[in-house]
Amino acid sequence: MTQAPRFDFSGKVAFVTGAGSGIGRATALAFAEAGAAVTIADIALPGLHETESQIAALGAPVLALRCDVTQSADIKAALDATIARFGRLDAAFNNAGIEQPGASIVDLTEEMLDRVLSVNLKSVFLCMKHQIPLMLQSGGGAIVNTSSGAGVIAIRNQSGYCASKFGVTVASKVAALEYADQGIRVNALCPGIIDTPMIARYTGGTEAGRAAIIKQEPVGRMGRPEEIAATVLFLCSDMGGFITGHALVADGAQTAGI
Ligand code: NAD
Repeated sequence: MTQAPRFDFSGKVAFVTGAGSGIGRATALAFAEAGAAVTIADIALPGLHETESQIAALGAPVLALRCDVTQSADIKAALDATIARFGRLDAAFNNAGIEQPGASIVDLTEEMLDRVLSVNLKSVFLCMKHQIPLMLQSGGGAIVNTSSGAGVIAIRNQSGYCASKFGVTVASKVAALEYADQGIRVNALCPGIIDTPMIARYTGGTEAGRAAIIKQEPVGRMGRPEEIAATVLFLCSDMGGFITGHALVADGAQTAGI
């Protein structure tokens, strides 16, 4: 059970990318538990359908759509389908992302740079471009874009990933400024080390790998996807009504001393 029932999204419609795994799945479930109708979007169908089953088991309305967030047409089609099915758009969590293999700036291949900027950063521009007009039609809304601790501090051998996430942080702030007076709030969320399949790939999934990465967390543990989900719901709820243009770290103090 997540902390989601503390929030009430009854009658609201949420859109979540990267919903087939990790943080995106936990957040889609949290929105559904809080009463929202949810569109879940992902490029990987097995995970997407697993999330769909978990939401359907709650008895909540769900629309599962294959969507490559690097493709403007895919995003527009998913949002159009959301309006066709649910009639409005209130909250968006633009979260799909990929990791970057560790490499110095010299060794980072052009192909990997293009890929990480496209999936992690360009996608957020494309999502907001298509979401904001729909939220304006719905009378306002809230957007949370997944940045990272790597969107706040520089990390050696992660220049492409850091550039993508610093970009997400600043794009969120600019969008917040542009739409603050039209009832749309936009925030960046910067998770620390969260126990998801992405981190399992990063650590090799071994106990030694996990222990090494946990050392970076002053709280002595990884975060849980459900803790990030609860933060997203807070930012999208009326409780977060005066928060916009903010980059919120939820990271067990990982970046506090830097
Ligand atoms: P994850 O790998 O478990 O999930 C990411 C999801 O994004 C997957 O389902 C994947 O299929 C999807 N995806 C990838 N490329 C896509 C594309 N082109 N179109 C649509 N979907 C695509 O990872 P996660 O840990 O849940 O990460 C979610 C977000 O959080 C990412 O943006 C990541 O950079 C960020 N983040 C994660 C951590 C962490 O420690 N896990 C920390 C900070 C930030």
